[in-house]
Amino acid sequence: MIDKSYYRDLTKMNTFRMKVTARNFIEYDSVADLVEIDFEELPRPVLHIGGGSNLLFTDDFKGTVLHSKVNFIEIISDGASGENPGVLPDEVLVSVGAGVVFDDFCAWAAKEGLWGVENLSGIPGEAGASAVQNIGAYGVEAKDVIRTVYCYDTAEEEFVNFDVAECRYGYRDSVFKQPDIKGRHIVTHVVFALSRRPEPKLDYGHLRAAFAGQDESSLTPLSIRKTIMGIRREKLPEPSVMGSAGSFFKNPIIAAGEFERIVAAARAEHGDSYEVPHYVLPDGMIKVPAAWMIEQCGWKGRRSGGAAVYDKQPLVIVNYTGEAYPEEIVGLEKRIIASVREKFGTVLHPEVEHI
Ligand SMILES: Cc1cc2nc3c(=O)[nH]c(=O)nc-3n(C[C@H](O)[C@H](O)[C@H](O)COP(=O)(O)OP(=O)(O)OC[C@H]3O[C@@H](n4cnc5c(N)ncnc54)[C@H](O)[C@@H]3O)c2cc1C
Repeated sequence: MIDKSYYRDLTKMNTFRMKVTARNFIEYDSVADLVEIDFEELPRPVLHIGGGSNLLFTDDFKGTVLHSKVNFIEIISDGASGENPGVLPDEVLVSVGAGVVFDDFCAWAAKEGLWGVENLSGIPGEAGASAVQNIGAYGVEAKDVIRTVYCYDTAEEEFVNFDVAECRYGYRDSVFKQPDIKGRHIVTHVVFALSRRPEPKLDYGHLRAAFAGQDESSLTPLSIRKTIMGIRREKLPEPSVMGSAGSFFKNPIIAAGEFERIVAAARAEHGDSYEVPHYVLPDGMIKVPAAWMIEQCGWKGRRSGGAAVYDKQPLVIVNYTGEAYPEEIVGLEKRIIASVREKFGTVLHPEVEHI
């Protein structure tokens, strides 16, 4: 069924809680509905949203917003049956509709005792966007579990699919985000390869410490999910309580020379033994936490009109009053970028998509 409306209020459809409308709004609940939509005729621009948890609407949307309510979670192949030679004995392939809340899928997998997405528990948004964004947390990215992404190509008006290699996944990046085809493919459903084999991934952040003293063989997807949800609650604002889009900036990946300049600036302030947090990537480039840079510039917890830098995690800009205007969020963003650039010479780039 296709549900069309005009000047639809999007306040509850974006986690920043920007009070904006979509001039033309279309919601559909079956993949077949997409064929009924004449994409050539739709008022432009056209934007397909999920849960709106990585978006910052800077104004009312003058074109068409689409939203999927395709909602199913279905085991399509179980390696234990031995019937499909392409599926490993421990593997379980699960097809998930684009409109499924991604965390509902994580909860389902944990309940079924299936491994693979437990570390991604608690990330807001829907399954379709998880494959666009290559969401990641606690050492796991969506690409590690995605097998195939099924789409509707709005240019050719046909159904197509991308195997994981064709999705060209990178850090919060995919083929679907490339400027030449962005917006062309609507994700209809995603096939994830989960596993019955216990595979706890604890090598990230404080995860191993959280299970200290526990026999690793006693861990389950459910116990890891619960722990991760607890850690996330401590660090990140709950969207229903305080609006945000999670990490506002990407962690900069810089060359060794730029990193040395940052170390010099930090040691001039904190002393010669000061260690700048960083992570050396396989290609020799260095990832520096943007949160550290923002905190070093004194932004942690600071307010600017209705917007603020979250006091528990400076990578997050929040709609502090619940009444923040987009201009206040963008103004704060610009001031943070300018001060990080002035102090360290590094330019931060937003992870959040400005609409
Ligand atoms: C409190 C908080 C914590 C967060 N923590 C994390 C985290 O730990 N890790 C992480 O990676 N992200 C995190 N995020 C960001 C966000 O949850 C992810 O980017 C998520 O994938 C966005 O999903 P969404 O459904 O809300 O997509 P939206 O924000 O609505 O859209 C994101 C992009 O996907 C496109 N899109 C959406 N649905 C479809 C579709 N069906 N077909 C084609 N394109 C589509 C949109 O056009 C847009 O380009 C966090 C956000 C918040 C608010």
